[in-house]
Amino acid sequence: MSHAKVVTRFAPSPTGFLHIGGARTALFNYYFAKHNDGEFRLRIEDTDKKRSTAEATQAILNGMNWLGIHHDNDIVYQSQNEARHKEIAATLIETGHAYLCYLSPEEQAEERQKSRDEGRAFRSPYRNTDMPAKDDTPSVVRFRVPDGETILDDKVQGQVKWNNKDFDDLILLRADGSPVYMLAVIVDDHDMGVTHVIRGDDHLVNGGRQKLIYQALGWDVPEFAHIPLIFGPDGKKLSKRHGALGVDAYENMGYIPAGLRNYLTRLGWANKDMEVFTDEQVSNVFSLSGINKSPARLDFDKMAFINGQHMAMCDTEDLLKYAHRFLEDKNEGPLEAIQIEQLKNALPHITGRAKTLIELADQLFFIIRPRPVPLTGKTKKSLKPDAEPRLRDLHFLLSAIEQDQWNTGYISDQLDTYTQKEEIGFGKIGPPLRACLTGGAPSPDLALVLELLGKDEALGRIRDCLDIFYNKNTE
Ligand code: GLU
Repeated sequence: MSHAKVVTRFAPSPTGFLHIGGARTALFNYYFAKHNDGEFRLRIEDTDKKRSTAEATQAILNGMNWLGIHHDNDIVYQSQNEARHKEIAATLIETGHAYLCYLSPEEQAEERQKSRDEGRAFRSPYRNTDMPAKDDTPSVVRFRVPDGETILDDKVQGQVKWNNKDFDDLILLRADGSPVYMLAVIVDDHDMGVTHVIRGDDHLVNGGRQKLIYQALGWDVPEFAHIPLIFGPDGKKLSKRHGALGVDAYENMGYIPAGLRNYLTRLGWANKDMEVFTDEQVSNVFSLSGINKSPARLDFDKMAFINGQHMAMCDTEDLLKYAHRFLEDKNEGPLEAIQIEQLKNALPHITGRAKTLIELADQLFFIIRPRPVPLTGKTKKSLKPDAEPRLRDLHFLLSAIEQDQWNTGYISDQLDTYTQKEEIGFGKIGPPLRACLTGGAPSPDLALVLELLGKDEALGRIRDCLDIFYNKNTE
């Protein structure tokens, strides 16, 4: 291969959202280029004008941007290269590798049936050079498949062999002169200097056909790596219900980009026991030989685990930005600056336990929850009548702590001293106190909760509980 520099590309057709399978294909191309100090290009394959939409292109770009897969150079829009595609079709005709085919739709259907009956691929009678051309009749340009066999040394699938007899004389230009994907993809890959084509294995046979066209043009054939599809957790083809969604759906489920990048990369690629890794770590070692030949299954527990690890590694400010919208949902309105400040203080103490941003928001929300904090049914049970005098004692004890001593260590000592003096276990004060302070949300150590809430807020919440809950009880 004469290319010095590795160039990969992601070439989605803009007919829908950025599907997670597509996102993984993009990631493999991205890391492979990074690993080789190469270029990762993006090409929007919009030759099918009926199915391609500007919204779908935007959705793909948004998805890649959110996921943090950044392409090099400008985006290539395949439709803008039409003139070049036609020029190459003309070259193929001149060199005898393609021909004009004048079959009417009915004749074509007949020929197709004949080829089926004879157990061979489609051939048009116009491939024979002695067939006369027909003026004033629309023609398509077809590739003249040569005799022989085609071997692809696929980097993932291994060696694959086809008899060329099994390949149709495929259309390169339609009757209206527009190029088809099979031609456009080759011309664009060649012109962009693509050295490695890494894509879904639903294109494996196309790889064989495309190799023939490369050879007809005398062009370098890129390396091919056809990667297996992603299956659902049940081992079946991905369905909507089982994760066949756009990356935006995963964003809404509370995954962060670094977590999803790691999980998708790990899905179908392995390097020793690497499980949780940064972009740099994976770029350092990424190779096509690490890609699994068999389909990978989505595993949501693992996705959450890996995401949680990345959330724990994430910078507080960034994590809060990611979690912002989920906290606003819970808050049923925008967050105020002071609430954001409180959350920032609390966040480092919570993250290790949350696996998604939704869990994180659930665990953080008690910090900014407006008073009175509603109690969950289960939590109410921990507020037994005998807890009331304890809560009154604690309110008294905590009120006496000076502002400058309102910290986890000091508060914890005070609580210990109280339980020792009263000769009770912590179980007598922990659950009711937590109920008052958090309403029952999962939360860290109580002394830390008290510190994070601040003295006034914490005492206010205990008072609310005493007022609301016990007054009701005694009515
Ligand atoms: N546009 C094609 C698709 O979305 C990809 C073609 C390719 O990667 O060669 O399936």
